[in-house]
This record gives sequence, C-alpha cells and structure tokens, in this order.
Amino acid sequence: MSELEALRAFAKEIFDDYWLEGPDLDCAELQELGVKHGILKHKLMERPCGGSDCCTCLSENGPAFFPDCCYRKTSIIGYPEPFSDPAAKGEPQ
Ligand SMILES: [Zn+2]
Repeated sequence: MSELEALRAFAKEIFDDYWLEGPDLDCAELQELGVKHGILKHKLMERPCGGSDCCTCLSENGPAFFPDCCYRKTSIIGYPEPFSDPAAKGEPQ
C-alpha cells in the first residue's frame, strides 16, 4: 500500500465513522487508527525514550507508568521513520 493509499484509508475511516453522526474520536481511538493505517508506530519501552515532539512517552502517563507503549509519527506524515535506531534510549534490552 502506498503512502497516499494509507492516508486515504486513514482519512476515510475517520470521516466515515466519526464525522456527523459518529461518536467523539478520543486520543486512544486516534492512536489505534493511526497504527492501523501506518500513520503511527508503537513499541513497548522500559522507560520514557526522551519525549520528542513526535513521541508520546512524556505526554501521556509519565515515567511512573512504564513499561508502556511509545507512539511515534511515521514517515508517511513527514517524520523520520521511528524505532530505526536500536540504541535509542528506553528500548528493552
Ligand atoms: Zn517515546
């Protein structure tokens, strides 16, 4: 599936399911749809990985809740491909 096809499928699901008569789209649902369509990738982390502007580690539950999933934006929406650096802080050994 091309990036354009992934973006179309993501947008279509949001507008088909949530626009007009659908329920409100909350953060968890948006993350689920993002992962489903390749807009986000997630990975179990032992500790926060640093919390850049394209990561959820420090924006959701805080360090006390780790291990937890880190969600990062992908190259489909213009960010570096996530989890490509095996030495990134916080990854399980
Ligand atoms: Zn993270």
